[in-house]
Amino acid sequence: MDLTVLQECPQCGGEVELAETDRLLSCPYCRTRNVLARGTARFTLPHIHRPGRLLHVPYLRCKGSVFSCHLNGIHHRVVDTTVATVPINVLPPTLGYRPQAMKMHYASDNLDTTYLRNKLSIKEALTRAEARHQSTAKNATPLHQEWIGETISLIYLPLIVHEDSVFDGVTGDPLATLPNSSDIFGPVSLPSLDWQIRLLPTICPNCGWDLRCEQESIVLLCPHCDTAWQEAHGTLTGVPFETVPAQGEDAIHLPFWRLEVDFEGIDIHSLADFIRLTNIPRAIQPEWEDIKMAFYCPAFKIRPKIFLRIASQLTAAQLPASGDTTIPASCTPVSLEASEAEESIKLILASAAIAKRNILPRLPHTSVTIRRNQLLFLPFFDNGYELCQEEMKVVINKQILQLGKKL
Ligand SMILES: [Zn+2]
Ligand SMILES: [Zn+2]
Repeated sequence: MDLTVLQECPQCGGEVELAETDRLLSCPYCRTRNVLARGTARFTLPHIHRPGRLLHVPYLRCKGSVFSCHLNGIHHRVVDTTVATVPINVLPPTLGYRPQAMKMHYASDNLDTTYLRNKLSIKEALTRAEARHQSTAKNATPLHQEWIGETISLIYLPLIVHEDSVFDGVTGDPLATLPNSSDIFGPVSLPSLDWQIRLLPTICPNCGWDLRCEQESIVLLCPHCDTAWQEAHGTLTGVPFETVPAQGEDAIHLPFWRLEVDFEGIDIHSLADFIRLTNIPRAIQPEWEDIKMAFYCPAFKIRPKIFLRIASQLTAAQLPASGDTTIPASCTPVSLEASEAEESIKLILASAAIAKRNILPRLPHTSVTIRRNQLLFLPFFDNGYELCQEEMKVVINKQILQLGKKL
């Protein structure tokens, strides 16, 4: 489901409509642009006005693809639900269709309301969300399971407590009567204000140039001083990258995460080890015994099956370093976090392997350490319907790439 959020422009005060995954506030009235520095996004549902104490109760919204590795292959399913995070039984277990039926706001500090603290870890919420979608047919325990490209946000349900009654703050319907004026919500409010959304101007911290970005960009590019930036803890921080130069003029670059990793529990230390163990049909060159292999993973959201296909193809091919650090002239936005790419290593390994039996049973005992992670801009040729990377033989349908923005 797609969610809509309303946010005030810090410059002109105009109300701008955003998608849940938008990382940029682009004001249509005064044309200023700001990066949304938000951590885990916190949204509030609109509430009615009536006498009483206003409380906001958190629900975790979990949306993404869950991949499960079984001996017979890798399965995935899409999960999209909300999970109650405060154990109070008068509350509905999920928010149902409310978040998509209404326009929400980013939660902000307001003296008239109390935000209750979230009592559930994201890991636990994902487990519950995933269990809700689990089909009984495939009940075998997977050898490895991972969420990729998930969107996690907190959505607050407003409640109004008046005398001994609790009302749903959206509809006004009574939810419960409190015995002897007991306070079941207790002193559980959020302590500090550092969870509030902050807005950062899209200005290059290095040279002051206007940074290049789109609505869903998590990495902002400066073509003026050839730097890349990402918001972290309320400031813009540099992101290392490399560009593979294009042959022709009309190339479009796509972003990938290039991850150098160390494994424990499986004997992959070099590119040669990887080819041997996965049984990928490539003739091993003697120098590959000394080459540390890298994993390549799309740095943009795309359908789960295609995500794994592209990652496996690029990882099997391996690219020599280019040493070029020029921001490409035309480039699609980075919309998948580096941490998401890091979580997908075992899935890519399982997916790339021709000899699945050499790899999959070892996954539960394998651990991955990320040694280095950087962006790689890879040139594609646009043939009208598809983007083609001729050297690596990777083809991506443009429509599917466009649809990925909604994931
Ligand atoms: Zn404005
Ligand atoms: Zn710059």
